[in-house]
Amino acid sequence: MSAAKKILIVDDEEDITILTEKFLQLEKYDTITCSNGYDALNIVKEKHEEIALVLLDIMLPGMSGYDILTEIKSKYPKILVVLFTVKKFFEDIQKGKELGADGYLVKAISGNEIITYVKNILKKKKDN
Ligand SMILES: [Mg+2]
Repeated sequence: MSAAKKILIVDDEEDITILTEKFLQLEKYDTITCSNGYDALNIVKEKHEEIALVLLDIMLPGMSGYDILTEIKSKYPKILVVLFTVKKFFEDIQKGKELGADGYLVKAISGNEIITYVKNILKKKKDN
């Protein structure tokens, strides 16, 4: 079995999804996108062996990113989940950490910063 390497992007803002996906694909990452929790959990259920990392928006219609995070971590703890959001208050970071998030990425950053962050967190996983 090949190592998990896909990145799932979950965001209801299409611009963000398209840009993030473009940046990651330029670096040869294999990406999947969706815009809500229901689809995200179905994709994870179906492809959990291929998914290394989920970039997860917090504010989504229906299920929140926190709920999705909890679901993913309870069933597939090996999948890295990074909250990807404009919220950057301490309480949000803290709540995410308590629910098992592997990291936190604020949306107002550049494509290069996203790539650097993704490379580092995947490398850290590999080194463990
Ligand atoms: Mg959103």
